[in-house]
Amino acid sequence: MKKEITGVMVYYYEVCKRKLWYFYNEIQMEQGNENVEIGKVLDEETYKRDKKHINIDNIINIDFIRSKGILHEVKKSNKIEEASILQVKYYLYFLHKKGVTNIKGKIDYPLLKQSVDIELNEEDIVNIEQILNNINEIVYKTIPPKLEKKRICKSCAYYDLCFI
Ligand code: SF4
Repeated sequence: MKKEITGVMVYYYEVCKRKLWYFYNEIQMEQGNENVEIGKVLDEETYKRDKKHINIDNIINIDFIRSKGILHEVKKSNKIEEASILQVKYYLYFLHKKGVTNIKGKIDYPLLKQSVDIELNEEDIVNIEQILNNINEIVYKTIPPKLEKKRICKSCAYYDLCFI
């Protein structure tokens, strides 16, 4: 059954296309993974005063909107990742398609004590539309993309599935 492309899928597209395939096809092994647990703790402990988890059409799940017109995504990572930036651009793209254009994004990195401002431009829109086509091609294949070892594999919830 065709599913909508979520922000997490766009993130996985960027970090590992095999991970995207597993996730889309509902092979989920996230529970108990230490990195995911850290994420949950941070999520519970950080930014308590903000209204959290704004879900739009079950497609995008924004961590919170603090001031008017800025959506926030909180990342537990200790480095700034292109995949997170793409994920937030996808949120902005999705809202843009719904007619919400006066909004920007911000990624908060509590471990780094830094934030990154995100805006969507015309080039991003073209890029995201190409990515959505690519995602649709990947996830409907009957087998996952070829295994390619990456730096992130050791901390990936699917490690056992790929390497053991
Ligand atoms: S273990 Fe590596 S190759 Fe396998 S899904 Fe995770 S990141 Fe991708």
